[in-house]
Amino acid sequence: MLGCVRFFLLALPLAAFAFGASGSVGADDILLAQAMLRVVHNPAGKPYIFFSPDGELGPLTKAAIETFQRDKQVSESPLPLRALRSALPNEYLGMRILPVSRIVYFEASASDAAKAVEEVQAYADFHPDFKRKIIEVMRRMYSVHGIVLWVTWDGWRRGFNQQAKISRRASWAGPGESSHHYGRACDLGFRNLRFLDGNGAIRNDDDWLQLLNRQFGKQSDQLWQLRNAIAFPLGLHGIAWEKVHLQLHVDEATNNARSLVRLLNLTGTMRWDVDSAGIESHYLSDLGRGGAFFPIGTAREIWAEMAAVKPLMGDLRTLRSTLKAAFAEAERSWQKWEPVP
Ligand SMILES: [Zn+2]
Repeated sequence: MLGCVRFFLLALPLAAFAFGASGSVGADDILLAQAMLRVVHNPAGKPYIFFSPDGELGPLTKAAIETFQRDKQVSESPLPLRALRSALPNEYLGMRILPVSRIVYFEASASDAAKAVEEVQAYADFHPDFKRKIIEVMRRMYSVHGIVLWVTWDGWRRGFNQQAKISRRASWAGPGESSHHYGRACDLGFRNLRFLDGNGAIRNDDDWLQLLNRQFGKQSDQLWQLRNAIAFPLGLHGIAWEKVHLQLHVDEATNNARSLVRLLNLTGTMRWDVDSAGIESHYLSDLGRGGAFFPIGTAREIWAEMAAVKPLMGDLRTLRSTLKAAFAEAERSWQKWEPVP
């Protein structure tokens, strides 16, 4: 028995780095081994490496692997991934790497995943097809990648009032002009994604992955790509300037102002049209008189009862409140909204 162990120990340095030309050990495996060496402690209570995992098999990594193999008397090689995994402290269980990156993250719990899905299931204000697809994305993101997605606090269906409070700097869309009004769009972010800091600590990111973005730059975009690789084939679409956003319709093929006009014409007694040439769309209405169209201003102005009506059109206050009432009626009938080009 003793002879066996002795032979085993002596044989280790020779067998440990049989990496060979076939290259069965990829950067991803090396990164994972390093991440574990960063948090598994040696008999002196210290980690096996002291640098940020980089996926490269340098001399320090090789030495750390040899030391670990010797300490734990394991022959698993070239990388002792199984032995390292079983040596992980509890809080580091579920460690995963994001392929072709230096990002190490942790699987979320099944109960968190289920809770996030239940929240969407219980929500009445999504178009049924949209809801089904969002739930499918959430389920697959968890079953394939161990990652929980959820709808961000302000990413649900949004009222016209809420949109009116958003500054022009954040969005040019006024009340009635956001795809968030109609239950076919949401902001689907990451729920408390935990990742390994270079110093071996676990950090919690926000819905938008701002910490990961700061630490890993473009590499963190891959997490959004994992989500999109599931979402897009299901018929969901993104928008260029807001990674967190998903919607049921193609943005480039949709004119939000004309889609609002369609809804206004469908739900009220006035006739509507729009000049959406500029950055902010300007609306036209027949004021319910069945004749010529008058220019009446932007969606923000109409919603604020500040429509750009003229005294010769009639009583200003009455006109302005009637125009806002038409918008309010459109909002109440949001389920009838359809995207038009
Ligand atoms: Zn959005």
